[in-house]
Parts: sequence; C-alpha cells; structure tokens
Amino acid sequence: MASVVIVGGGAIGLASAFFLHRRGVFSITVLDQGPIGNGCSYGNAGFLSPSHMVPLAAPGVIGKGLRWLLDPESPFYIRPRWDLELFRWLWRFRRSATATHVTRSAPVLQALLERSRDLTAQIQDVTEDFELRQDGLLMPYQSEEGRGECEQLAREAARLGMTHEWVPVDRLNELAGMEVRAIGGLFFPGDAHLRPDRFTAALHRYLERQGVQFLPETEVTGLVRRGRQVTEVQTSNGTLAADQVVVAAGAWSARLVRAVGYRLPLQPAKGYSLTFTPPPELVPRRPLLLTETKVAVTPFREAFRLAGTLELSGLELSIRQRRVQAIYRAAQRYLPALPLPPIEQAEIWAGLRPCTPDGLPVVDRVPGTDNLWLATGHAMLGISLAAVTGELVAALVGEDTPPIDPALLRADRWSS
Ligand SMILES: Cc1cc2nc3c(=O)[nH]c(=O)nc-3n(C[C@H](O)[C@H](O)[C@H](O)COP(=O)(O)OP(=O)(O)OC[C@H]3O[C@@H](n4cnc5c(N)ncnc54)[C@H](O)[C@@H]3O)c2cc1C
Repeated sequence: MASVVIVGGGAIGLASAFFLHRRGVFSITVLDQGPIGNGCSYGNAGFLSPSHMVPLAAPGVIGKGLRWLLDPESPFYIRPRWDLELFRWLWRFRRSATATHVTRSAPVLQALLERSRDLTAQIQDVTEDFELRQDGLLMPYQSEEGRGECEQLAREAARLGMTHEWVPVDRLNELAGMEVRAIGGLFFPGDAHLRPDRFTAALHRYLERQGVQFLPETEVTGLVRRGRQVTEVQTSNGTLAADQVVVAAGAWSARLVRAVGYRLPLQPAKGYSLTFTPPPELVPRRPLLLTETKVAVTPFREAFRLAGTLELSGLELSIRQRRVQAIYRAAQRYLPALPLPPIEQAEIWAGLRPCTPDGLPVVDRVPGTDNLWLATGHAMLGISLAAVTGELVAALVGEDTPPIDPALLRADRWSS
C-alpha cells in the first residue's frame, strides 16, 4: 500500500493513522477542514466504557424518547423540521430497536470496547500521558425507573460475563469520595477514562514525529471517482492523489460519500459539555453517569467536566442554554456537596456525534468502490472505540484478517 489519505483529524482519523503507520504504511496524509482534533473528539466526556455495550437502538428507547420530547429540560430533543433523511433515519432506528438486535450486537460491541480500552493503553505507552485511568464508572439512580434501567443493563452484563457491582447508598458515597444523592447505583470497575483533547494532541504530535503529513484547515470538497477507484481528493487547497482514501469525517461523513453515490444513513446528534478549569476543590474521585438524566461527570487532573444531551438538530452547533442549564442542575441534584462554580465560569462546548440508525459504527469499504473506506458512526462511543477502529481500518485497508470480525459494521447493511 503506497499512500493513504485520511479525511478527518478526530479520534477516529488519528487512530486510523496510528495503526496504519504501525503496519508500515509510510505515506499517510491527514486532512481536516479545521484544526486537528477540534471536532466532536475535543470536549466530550472521555469515557472508555465497555459498560456501554448495549447499542443506542434498544427496546424501550422509543417510548422514553417520546416522553422526553415533551420535556424541555430532558436529555433528548429533535428540532422540528421537514427533513426526509431524518424521517428515514428515525424509521430505521425504530426497526433496529429490538431485543434481537441487542442480543446480536452487544457481544460484538463488548469485544470491541474491551479491546479498544487495552489498545488505548498501548497508544499512551508510546505517545504521551493523556490521563488514561481505569477507575471504573459509577451509575447512581434516584428513582425506581432508574433502578429498572440499571437492572436491564446488569442483566445484559451478566449474560456477557462482565464484572459489575450493585452499590448500596453508603458504598456509593465511598466510591464517589463524596455525598451522592441516590437510592443506589451500579458500578462497572472495567471502565476507564481519558482527557480527550490530550488524547488527540498526543496522537497528533506522535504521528507528526513519525512523518505523517497533516493538512489542517483543508476542506475536502470532492472525491473524483473513475469506475471503482477514487483517484483524486479535491480540497480547498488543491488536489491530492491517493492509493487509498479513508473517510473519518465524523458527523460530516455522509455528505462526502454521497458524492460517489453511497447514501450513508447518518444523523448528527448534538451534545454539550461544561468544563471548569481549575476544578472545584472537591470533586468525585471517579467518573459518574447520572442514570435518569444521562449526564456524564468526569474529573480530570486539571479540570472537571459535565456532559450530556442528545439533540437531532442537523449539522449545526448552536447552543441551547436551557439544555446546558439542565446538565448543570442535574449535577447539583445528584452531588449536593459539589462546590460547583457559577455556570458563567464554565467553558461551554457543543459537538456532533455521528449516529447510525442501529447504533453501530460503519467500518468498511464503501460499496461499489475498491479503495474508499468509511470509519464513522461511533455515536457516543467514538473515544471508547477509536483505537480498535484504527486497528480494524489498518487491517482492512491492508487486506488482512481483522482481529475482531467486523461483519456487523458493514456499509451495505441498509441496502435491503
Ligand atoms: C457531549 C458529548 C459527550 C461524549 N462523550 C463521550 C464519551 O464519554 N466517550 C466516547 O467514547 N464518546 C463520547 N462522545 C462521542 C465522541 O465524542 C464521538 O463519537 C467522537 O468524537 C467521534 O470522533 P470522529 O473522529 O468520528 O469525529 P470528529 O472528532 O468530529 O472528527 C471528524 C473531523 O472531520 C473533519 N471534517 C469533516 N468534514 C470534513 C471535510 N469535508 N474535509 C476535511 N475535514 C473534514 C472535522 O473537522 C472533524 O475534525 C461524546 C460526544 C458528545 C457530543
């Protein structure tokens, strides 16, 4: 394989470059329309969570989503609009949200997530410290409905042989290192977390030292296709030739592959984070996921982050203050002893998760082409799955047998 062009300098594009380089590909170019690592991979919660092995498309999600739509402070929102792609996506989501889909996908996601967590540690070993720690993930719940949700997750975890622990109230406080207002919790000791902006920066610096070429502020405007080959990548700064092209452009990926005739069902799902630097004097000693509100709480070494909401609002990054305030208030409700500074002191960030209708990523060749690859659709798992996706991309592009069968991640799975 002589040369590879990667479109997108987020966690997925960078991890793909890392593993392609590790396999001996020496001509790699990573293009980004903005700065490297500034997309959705920048301000997320940083969880590496094997506990998230149940795909988003699961039974019960539709009913809950409909109830949430009526609540302006809920973690879910759809901006009302006439959008055929969105309707098609929702229809496919509804069809995927079945017990059979969960039974089939959860073991594959679990294998991918666990391998990815371990590969991420290997990346840190050769790059630099990005605050990777395996402190587990604690999920406190405040209601019977929340307990029911955790019970469902625990049943799936038991089926898959994943270590998890039911946590009574007094142990909750001990695990969190501070008072948690909840009636119980579920704990996954195998989960880890990292500081996402340091993860992408570490990969960027390391790859640059290895001779990978980076072209930030270079938008890919088109892909020239001759028969089954993509021969040229057109950019805002000229044209590039490549033997292989990997589209890892996150929520923007569908637009790019549409130009070569492939319709990827992908919706951007906006989420927000609030980052406090320096962190408050007292913070939980490990990450939490506040069950009813789906707010993620992550303590970093020099900062503290709250993250959440899922908005299907299209490819736009406007900030809805009401939803941001709901995230802030959720943290106050569950963690009454947390000395949160006023919300005005937080860095408020929005990012677009690339979501497929079945909740699984696409890591595959684009149908009808020989040298165009897709690595996207990671939804809320792009940090968790970055390393293993990079490994899969490198194996597939190198015509090698991937370490985990990527059959469920195929790009032609919506063609029927
Ligand atoms: C609030 C929130 C919390 C989250 N928490 C977690 C978490 O705890 N754990 C987890 O695993 N995941 C989490 N996620 C999801 C995770 O952030 C994403 O899945 C992941 O960042 C996607 O990575 P990516 O590389 O595919 O996309 P991105 O990081 O968005 O990278 C894509 C890049 O492609 C570039 N690009 C797009 N179009 C073009 C073009 N035409 N030309 C050139 N460049 C282009 C963009 O500029 C961008 O930099 C969270 C997301 C949000 C919003």
